[in-house]
Amino acid sequence: MMGEEGRTPRLPVRMCVRCHVTTETPVVVAVVHQNSGPGFVVYACRACAVHYPPQPEVLTVRPSAGRAGGEE
Ligand SMILES: [Zn+2]
Repeated sequence: MMGEEGRTPRLPVRMCVRCHVTTETPVVVAVVHQNSGPGFVVYACRACAVHYPPQPEVLTVRPSAGRAGGEE
């Protein structure tokens, strides 16, 4: 028996950037882009997220980054 809850979905726990409390309901408040390498995402808890402006399109993929299966 390796574990009893092996199939339990693990919630993405993140630390709030504002109050530094780990939250199970992280809200993306900012995405930092770096020149070298991938950027990182800044999370906040729900209570603190209201203090940040909304991020309209965080997960937008650039169309010119490469077309995989470019079907019309
Ligand atoms: Zn917070």
